[in-house]
Amino acid sequence: MTGHARSREHDAEEAFTALSNALDIVAPGCRDDGRFTLDPHELQREELGFLSVRVCWPCPVRDLCRAYAEAARPAAGVWAGRVYGPRRLSEG
Ligand code: SF4
Repeated sequence: MTGHARSREHDAEEAFTALSNALDIVAPGCRDDGRFTLDPHELQREELGFLSVRVCWPCPVRDLCRAYAEAARPAAGVWAGRVYGPRRLSEG
């Protein structure tokens, strides 16, 4: 594993801890909503827009959620209003 990969993994762990601690206090709108764990192709653009604007935008842990997702690059799901999925070959 490269130093860059280790650093990114460390960033993801820290971001996860911060998000997890916040979620001990706050129940976000995505909790128990299966649409947030779908693969990208299973979610219509309009529905993603709805989730992003109506659920994620006002979410009190949105910044922590985004920080974790940007660091960890989850394999699927909606995180802070953005859909994540398998990386394209051109992505690092
Ligand atoms: S910002 Fe993150 S934690 Fe908040 S509702 Fe959206 S996906 Fe859930």
